[in-house]
Amino acid sequence: MDRDIKEYTIDDVAGFFKDNVDAIVAVDVEKSIYHVIQKKGIFSNFFDDDGDYNELIKKLWFHFNDSGEQITEDYQVFIPSLGKCQGKMSRRLKVFRHGILHVVQMTIYPVEDSDVNIIILDELHDSEYEDELKTNNKVNTIQNTYLFSMYVDLVKDVTSSISITEISEDTVNTQIKYSDWRMMIVNMICPDDQKMFLEKTDPEYLMANFKPGHTASFDCLMQNLEGKYIWVKLIFSRAETNFEDDFRFVFMVQDIHENTVELMSTLKKYEEMASLDPLTGVLNHGRIETELGNAVETARKSKRAVSAMIIDIDFFKQVNDNYGHSVGDMTLKQFAGIIRGNFTDGRAVVGRWGGEEFVTICYDMDIRKLKEVAEELREKVAAETFKAVGHITCSIGITGIKLEDEADFVFERMDKALYEAKSDGRNCTRCIEA
Ligand code: GH3
Ligand code: MG
Ligand code: MG
Repeated sequence: MDRDIKEYTIDDVAGFFKDNVDAIVAVDVEKSIYHVIQKKGIFSNFFDDDGDYNELIKKLWFHFNDSGEQITEDYQVFIPSLGKCQGKMSRRLKVFRHGILHVVQMTIYPVEDSDVNIIILDELHDSEYEDELKTNNKVNTIQNTYLFSMYVDLVKDVTSSISITEISEDTVNTQIKYSDWRMMIVNMICPDDQKMFLEKTDPEYLMANFKPGHTASFDCLMQNLEGKYIWVKLIFSRAETNFEDDFRFVFMVQDIHENTVELMSTLKKYEEMASLDPLTGVLNHGRIETELGNAVETARKSKRAVSAMIIDIDFFKQVNDNYGHSVGDMTLKQFAGIIRGNFTDGRAVVGRWGGEEFVTICYDMDIRKLKEVAEELREKVAAETFKAVGHITCSIGITGIKLEDEADFVFERMDKALYEAKSDGRNCTRCIEA
């Protein structure tokens, strides 16, 4: 039905609002309570008809998704300022319902000469903000990883234009002193990184270290809205200025979690590559040598009982001669597996000294105990059926590490004990005490 626009009345408009607007809520700002005048669409069961205004704001603004998870307390410091709105305002909110993102336009009208605000909430349909979203996405591909940004004036000790991107693209109008803000935010930083955070965000530090236009950043673990620690980059950038007493900064928090986690796993792989023997998967010669040095230091400093042994396969040359080198390799692998399996409580380190010789360093284990453990291991090896090869044996040389010891001496004693075991007919353990 085509009606002339001049026929529309204010009642028609009111009716139109009634039929179309998703939610209308009256708020008594002074008493901090709200009353729902109308609700439908995504808001039909989003909030109760009456309740506490702060709870409503939390739900609308500081909800995270539909799983009922609340945004961590620390971020809720921004709530009180949201309740007090001077004059009309309008902003976009991201509201999750059943895991789906809805973009909502929120408009607040203060009712003149009263403590009452009228809040109008209306979901925007895809097509209505799609174009806007597309352009935003183009411009914001980097910006999407920004979780938080604000403007800081260190001289006035004020912050402004705070934006918590995860909640809304709009800025939060809140008056927080920079010095207060630092003390609020420090609680969201992982305890290990708090000292560094306080150092690097100290106004004195920033003033002393940033020339106009200078940008610097540091990475740390920080709680996200859900309260989970994620890797972030904290970036400070001093505004360009010719006036040397002008200390205005832009501060941003960038989400670098995924990349950092990937990077750390790559670093870990490099570290493993540098310290593991590729054939057997136990520590390589360089690493086990370092470990022997560490063990000597540990024995000196902590007075923990530390002992070590060298394990050598008997007549291994024959394995190669009889079955070929690749069967020899397979046997070494299986052999190393038995040693590893014998020390699983994490207080022993196993490495390949070279060829068919392995070294094990045992913490919190005295000589008497290690002799028993070595004997068990020897028996296990003798009882094992090795693929293609059948049965092999090994000889073991044991020693303890004394308070004033040296890695070379420890190795000499183990090796000498091994030599004795070989001389005494192999398939046995011998010990030279420290
Ligand atoms: P013993 O009982 O006196 O220890 O005799 P053995 O034959 O085990 O000792 P020897 O030192 O004479 O020989 C060690 C052999 O280990 C020689 C070498 O061919 C073999 N070997 C060393 N490293 C590897 C390896 O990485 N793979 C294979 N398949 N064999 C290796
Ligand atoms: Mg050998
Ligand atoms: Mg050998």
